[in-house]
Amino acid sequence: MRQATKIKPSSSGTGRLQLLTSHLLPPMASEKDAALAAVPADSPTIFDKIINKEIPAKVVYEDEKVLAFRDIAPQAPTHIVIIPKLKDGLTGLSKAEERHCEILGHLLYSAKRIAEQEGLEDGFRIVINDGPKGCQSVYHLHIHLLGGRQMNWPPG
Ligand code: AMP
Repeated sequence: MRQATKIKPSSSGTGRLQLLTSHLLPPMASEKDAALAAVPADSPTIFDKIINKEIPAKVVYEDEKVLAFRDIAPQAPTHIVIIPKLKDGLTGLSKAEERHCEILGHLLYSAKRIAEQEGLEDGFRIVINDGPKGCQSVYHLHIHLLGGRQMNWPPG
């Protein structure tokens, strides 16, 4: 595998982003409301804007295939979203086809490397939400990497 590039996040990004989103998005009561309001479609999402650097994100890891950045609404002390740079029809995991096996493996292996980078040696959780009932709100496949606190089981 090629050497990954670690990128230093911008410190001013979050404030500007919060200002931007607070003007563009209607107030949502919860992540579940956001997921139920989302339309499952293969159209550009907010993640394309992050890939294209049209909006800021706190990038923690990047290589030629994936981009990882801190979630804007963290559910744990460490909450990172890992996405393929090329969506290739992968609006969600349920749309995966055999040709996607390589990128799916690369996403998962990247998650393990980022967990190491973030010092999550005591454990972490990987989540992939799929579809309205899975509470997916952004239709560009992504892995959530959560850590830094004790997780519970079963998830809610
Ligand atoms: P999901 O609900 O599984 O589709 O996850 C989408 C995630 O993307 C949520 O946890 C959001 O908080 C996160 N998110 C949405 N917009 C942004 C953004 N501009 N920067 C970082 N994370 C975001």
